[in-house]
Amino acid sequence: MLQGTFHPNQEIKSPFLTSKKVNLYIKRLDLIHPTAGGNKYFKLLYNLKEAEIRPHKTILTFGGAYSNHIYSTAAACQALGLRSIGIIRGEAGKQLSPTLEYAKECGMSLHYMDRETYRNKQQAEVVENLRRQFGSFYLIPEGGTNKLAIKGCMEILREEDHRMDYIGAAIGTGGTLTGLIASARASQTVLGISSLKGEFIHKEIECLLESHAIEPKAKYELFTDYHFGGYAKYKQELIEFMREFTDQNGIPLDPIYTGKLFYGIYDLIKKDYFPEHASILLIHSGGLQGIEGFNMRHQENLRSS
Ligand SMILES: *Cc1c(COP(=O)(O)O)cnc(C)c1O
Repeated sequence: MLQGTFHPNQEIKSPFLTSKKVNLYIKRLDLIHPTAGGNKYFKLLYNLKEAEIRPHKTILTFGGAYSNHIYSTAAACQALGLRSIGIIRGEAGKQLSPTLEYAKECGMSLHYMDRETYRNKQQAEVVENLRRQFGSFYLIPEGGTNKLAIKGCMEILREEDHRMDYIGAAIGTGGTLTGLIASARASQTVLGISSLKGEFIHKEIECLLESHAIEPKAKYELFTDYHFGGYAKYKQELIEFMREFTDQNGIPLDPIYTGKLFYGIYDLIKKDYFPEHASILLIHSGGLQGIEGFNMRHQENLRSS
């Protein structure tokens, strides 16, 4: 089984937080494993365990050229001696992205799938074709959200976190947030900041909760105003916020998920969303591997450590 190390929650102190009378803590999931850290560690945990008992010992999964999920899956499979196959959206570029370069180094076998087939990758026919091509495998969907991923994400919150009033996390597919909602206490409110544009995420989370028969004790609230134009889109305002946060606290953020999460929560603090003396725990879900590729694509120079 993949071995991770929990780090104590880190308190963030600043004159701004003091003046707003809130207590802010960060759960550093980015530090939980040297290569397969972040929320993907929890999403993969029980899926890997399941794949390990299969005779084929092979995982097949999907993602884009900069995907955190592809990166973590490749790293974790290497650590556990599992074979990994990565189906990558689109066509091969002239050069491998840093993410794919690393996945390849880990021994992941990379195959490109045209965008139209990729959109239909859940269809039985597409999966069957993959089985004909690659033999038996354990399939993990794009982004890694399934029943076992949610089970894993129910282990993110620990005993010492029960005293927190608010738990904040970034949303992609919503699997991580669903696990947090399922495991949070009645006294807690889980806040989800969506990295994607659109209101569909409200339905999506409801759907995930319902289809996994989760009846939350905790309250939850979703925010859809902090996507900065959509998935993987950004504005200089976000970069400036991230840079200042990292300079002041020595904690790197990624521009796709955690940057938007922290920006959103700071904005909510500014707008007095939180009652006085509230304790807020933010989940640093990792994603720092993507910074190198982001900097290359956009000529930025965000810190990744
Ligand atoms: C994948 C990812 C998320 C989104 O997780 P979901 O379970 O898909 O909502 C958030 N943060 C980081 C850093 C990620 O890599």
